Amino acid sequence: MRIDCHAHGWWGIEPKPESPGGYIDECQRRGIDKIVLIQAEDRHLFEAFEICPDFIIPVAQVDIDTITPDEISRLVERGAKGIKFIGPMHPYGADIYFPLYDRVCQLGVTAVFHTGYLMVGLFEKGGAFYEKPSLIDITDMRPATIDRIVRGFPDLKILMAHFGNPWWEEAWKMISTHKNVYADFSGGTAYRRSLSMWGEMFAPNGELDVASAEKLCFASDCTYFINDYFEFEKLISFYQRFFDRVKMPEALREKINVGNSLKLFR
Ligand SMILES: [Zn+2]
Repeated sequence: MRIDCHAHGWWGIEPKPESPGGYIDECQRRGIDKIVLIQAEDRHLFEAFEICPDFIIPVAQVDIDTITPDEISRLVERGAKGIKFIGPMHPYGADIYFPLYDRVCQLGVTAVFHTGYLMVGLFEKGGAFYEKPSLIDITDMRPATIDRIVRGFPDLKILMAHFGNPWWEEAWKMISTHKNVYADFSGGTAYRRSLSMWGEMFAPNGELDVASAEKLCFASDCTYFINDYFEFEKLISFYQRFFDRVKMPEALREKINVGNSLKLFR
């Protein structure tokens, strides 16, 4: 069994899959049993969840600079199991965002952070998401910015998406040190780095570093419901090669594939 804890969906685009059962069967046959669907428009997020409640775990992507704590509560009341933050105008660890983290923590759901590099054009004028008042600074999304949040909210469950690309060592330090911080290799960069690099990080001198390895989650960042299975299959194969490389024991593979995601998004 495997949960893809960073997935997007081609939802809201016609024709809408009325009964996507066949598609889901095919995903399951190819190794993905459930997805954590991260979606910016809550209308589509909850509609998708209603249609495939057994396949989708909904996570609401919000504009960290304009959302209020009460709006976060409403998203969770509607079923969101996590809140995803991306493209901040200040570092994630800035005081201005603490009321949001406080609410997410109180609600007991997970804060998902896009960490590291962010594609150009998503938040600029005419971009796919919220239009930001100024240009994005990717250093505001470095994994190290998570550290200050943890100091303020040690109980907040955090998932760092994309392993801090390219600040890999910072991401490793965050998951190794902070008990409620997890990370994944989703996106287009981490899986293209060499297994020697990942092996050196997670099994220095050939010895598995359990403290960090057990904080990983399986995730792809691919788009579902478009009948393209190749994207997530690439990530499955990468994680498997990584597991073999660091001699990951079966119990930890299970944790990374399923257990950690259930802990974060149940
Ligand atoms: Zn994504």
